Amino acid sequence: MSEINQILREAAKKLLQDKKVQSIIGFRKGVVPMREQPFFARTISEADQLVWTGFCTNNPAKFLINADFPVAVVAQGCVSRNINILIRENRIKRDNVHILGVHSPGMLDRFKIAAEFPGRYIHEVQEHNEDIYVSGPGFEENLNRRRFKRDNCYTCTHRNPVLYDQMLGTEGSHQGGGNIDKVAAPWLNKSSEQRWEMFNETFKKCVRCYACRDACPLCYCKTCFVDNSKPQWCGKTIEETDVHTFHILRAFHCAGRCTDCGACESACPEGIKMRRLTSRLELDIRQMYGFSPGLSPDEINPLSTFSPEDPEDFIG
Ligand code: SF4
Ligand code: SF4
Ligand code: SF4
Repeated sequence: MSEINQILREAAKKLLQDKKVQSIIGFRKGVVPMREQPFFARTISEADQLVWTGFCTNNPAKFLINADFPVAVVAQGCVSRNINILIRENRIKRDNVHILGVHSPGMLDRFKIAAEFPGRYIHEVQEHNEDIYVSGPGFEENLNRRRFKRDNCYTCTHRNPVLYDQMLGTEGSHQGGGNIDKVAAPWLNKSSEQRWEMFNETFKKCVRCYACRDACPLCYCKTCFVDNSKPQWCGKTIEETDVHTFHILRAFHCAGRCTDCGACESACPEGIKMRRLTSRLELDIRQMYGFSPGLSPDEINPLSTFSPEDPEDFIG
């Protein structure tokens, strides 16, 4: 067992034994390869199932929303930032949550790994520091994990938790190594026709399953605008207009709040790169307001408040 799993399980057991929390929210080994399952450990024996690997790609901040009993949650940089946002938005009571901070190794992209083995079925992927060991019927291969990280984890700037009650293991490098501004770069210096074409291309395979919305800790409305029938803001089909309306509105609802955790992209069965939209909004908000979401529970999203010094260039 890896050292971090052992530290995690011991910490979880102690919290449950001391009755400090009723449940530990983390991950257990998934039933399919390359997908760990979100897991609520409620007993000391269940705590032995907890794992921390490069396939813990859901964002467990989502499960804290409106929790009205004491829980612990495993949180790396992006998840801790989402917790800050949810505290600020009164969706989480800070006193109810014990944050088990953990350094993130950078999560792995199952689509990238599967693409390396076309037509072959992967049975297992094991991680050994900077290597991943992939095996299946009739093959075994060692790969360098760097090539298979999720795109958002390359450009991450906060791999350590920004808020925690207890740090599991040691902190590591904050940076993923990539440049976040390059994600939004394809939108820049393009005509509106070219941007429209790129937007169409990005979302043409969307089947409106809503896995991206359901995985996102920012999407917690009781009735999402797409499910409303009176008034009906958005049609239910997978016609271009309906798909585009869904994605544009969702992206704007996340503006100034998205931590680039990547849970939406990881959940998408079609491999759609919806971060192309959110990254452009992230860039605008950082450049216009000098703001990065979730670094503190006291910071207000600039789009939720007003200052006389706010830029007004868009008023024409
Ligand atoms: S976005 Fe950063 S903190 Fe979150 S999983 Fe990726 S590398 Fe880790
Ligand atoms: S929009 Fe996607 S990347 Fe942003 S916080 Fe939600 S799940 Fe994470
Ligand atoms: S998860 Fe993918 S296919 Fe499903 S609604 Fe979101 S973008 Fe569309």
